[in-house]
Amino acid sequence: MLWLVFRWERVRLVPMAVSDELHERLHQHFGFREFLEGQEPVISALLEGRDALVIMPTGGGKSLCYQFPALILEGITLVVSPLIALMKDQVDALVGKKIPAACINSSLAPSEMSQRIQGMQRGEYRLVYVAPERFKSERFVQALAPLSIALFAIDEAHCISQWGHDFRPDYLRLRHALRSLGQPQVAALTATATPEVRQDIIEQLDLGKAGREPPRVFVSGFARPNLTLAVTQAKNQAAKLARILEFIRQLKTGIIYCATRKNVERVTASLAQAGVPATAYHAGLTDQQRARAQEKFMSGDCPVAIATNAFGMGVDRADLRFVLHHDIPGSVEAYYQEAGRAGRDGEPARCELLFNYADVQTQEFFIEGANPTREIIEGLRLALLSLCRHGPVEIPISEIAEQVPEANNEMAVGTALYLLERAGFIQRDYRSGSRTYTTRLAEPVKELDALQIDFERLNAKRERDVAKLRRMIQYADNTGCRHQFILRYFGDEDAGERCATCDTCLSRTGSASRLPTEEEIVIIQKALSCVARVNGRFGRGRITQTLVGSRSKDVLDAGLDRLSTYGLLSDFSPDYVWSLLDTLVQAGCLQVGGGEYPTLSLTDLGGDVMRRKKTISLVMPEVESSHSTGGAKSRATRRGDADSHDEGDYDVNLFDALREWRREKAAGLGNLPAYLIYTDRALEGLSRRKPRTEPELLEVRGIGPAKARRFGAETLEIIRQYL
Ligand code: ADP
Repeated sequence: MLWLVFRWERVRLVPMAVSDELHERLHQHFGFREFLEGQEPVISALLEGRDALVIMPTGGGKSLCYQFPALILEGITLVVSPLIALMKDQVDALVGKKIPAACINSSLAPSEMSQRIQGMQRGEYRLVYVAPERFKSERFVQALAPLSIALFAIDEAHCISQWGHDFRPDYLRLRHALRSLGQPQVAALTATATPEVRQDIIEQLDLGKAGREPPRVFVSGFARPNLTLAVTQAKNQAAKLARILEFIRQLKTGIIYCATRKNVERVTASLAQAGVPATAYHAGLTDQQRARAQEKFMSGDCPVAIATNAFGMGVDRADLRFVLHHDIPGSVEAYYQEAGRAGRDGEPARCELLFNYADVQTQEFFIEGANPTREIIEGLRLALLSLCRHGPVEIPISEIAEQVPEANNEMAVGTALYLLERAGFIQRDYRSGSRTYTTRLAEPVKELDALQIDFERLNAKRERDVAKLRRMIQYADNTGCRHQFILRYFGDEDAGERCATCDTCLSRTGSASRLPTEEEIVIIQKALSCVARVNGRFGRGRITQTLVGSRSKDVLDAGLDRLSTYGLLSDFSPDYVWSLLDTLVQAGCLQVGGGEYPTLSLTDLGGDVMRRKKTISLVMPEVESSHSTGGAKSRATRRGDADSHDEGDYDVNLFDALREWRREKAAGLGNLPAYLIYTDRALEGLSRRKPRTEPELLEVRGIGPAKARRFGAETLEIIRQYL
């Protein structure tokens, strides 16, 4: 039998050799030379018998995390996957690699189904993909029970959680199936799981139960430094359209996501008028039309797609140079999943949200529609009692909605109909050729309280949806680093310092990434060589002090003044050197070690740049005038930016007092990056204008109403005391 080829012993080798062995098999069976980020630890944990929850973005390489152990572990690996089309692709790809695999879903005829089950029983497959609804059938679960199941992999595991954006009731059956199958080892995988969803997945699937060790949770790969993230305030439709055209002209290939079908059609028509062809995609098109649109886009015939969120699953075009959002989506996970389709090839790509606060209403409308209130459900129940009193009716939802005075949202009526159907109050059938359902009352007719509708859960879900939308609005309003915001949202440990590729960081530094000048290359070399001398022993603060030639006790005690690199950048201010190190971290020349005191060390790339083997683009910090006026420490005043409308000397002592307050404040707010309180430029403005009232405060560049509300009173008090 074919699978005998794969009957391997469990790996019993020393760790280095295990890694070598894994690499060898990776190459042998999958043709890859290296694991992608995060894959190897997951595979090792699964081979050790641990349950695992794996959170990696789309395209991160989740499939290999279970396909690889499936070849090594004894027994069959079941893979639950919700998308029949993708399932088939995966199975074809595996079979192409001579890995015996099959799928079981509703597209199979009963005879094929039983053949596959018999095949499983005979041990003909290493991997079998199963659609989640199959587990509704107790007979199916019983047929699996005698099998030796090595691993139960659950793809798109967030579908089990009502906290997630894509809850699927069929996933709730999996817990029962797992119990019936003797609680096999589980790998749950998803691209989108916030901490709440993560906890929910662990609980719903009983991970780490039945005497096993607690599950390992892996979050990796969310960092996408090649994506430039930005939010543009778009006053109106014309502004949005102008921006879209600019993107298409410059970047050519990409997707424009809209919140509604109507907007897809509107934008597509406007582009057509402007002579720009684009393919439209939304759930209102026929299957055929959608397949054609997808095909046109994938083949490169039409490099621009205008789409709702229905477009995405299965879009595997790696060379998208942009993803624009015409409307704000409902959650950060939805946004990042869609935006993340840009630049899969690792080349630079741009993701921009065209933000107009009025668009939030569309999402609020969706939330109302997806979460009808008790009043709407009761209103609908009464309307149905009346409408169906003489028997089944065949009327569209829009007409039913007219009979429900409590509802001003047709979508909410649609959801309420679904809930009443699920609770057994009505039955709905779809007659082929008809455009609407036939609705009839189920017997016996029940009162609302006798129906199994969990209103508490419905309310909780509505609140969660609202909270998610709020986070998305925070993202749009955010003045900090957008990459950091997203990584923190997902709980990715990689959430480092500021980036060099989002609009807020770029505007903070006032310049975009570029190749350094000859003079700057020398500065960079000096900084890198200082890090190389103390590699991994000191953090940014101590290295900055060393480079500027500080005589502080810490530096002298550590003997850093005896290094050849001591004082190499003494012409520059500590702020400048600190920012330079920051930039070098962002550019991948330096890496920050973990632990309580993050240390800096040189990466391979950093080594190459130091030795001038490579030149890279980066965002160089602005040089303060102290550089040209003879040293950071002697300056009495500093000058504002030349192009600032607010330029001029400012009071350094007040600046220092405000900076000290900002430092303490940031520490008190859970080590918030200080610039999130006020940027240096705002501090300069304050030290120049010395405002005494709130209106005066609001005149300072960089201080808006939100900041004034939050920090204004304290700021004014410091200035008052100083004066
Ligand atoms: P996900 O399920 O996380 O969206 P996939 O498992 O489909 O991602 O993998 C995304 C792409 O990465 C696929 O084209 C896959 O062949 C490729 N891939 C996976 N692992 C590796 C690897 N170790 N080296 C190179 N490519 C890989």
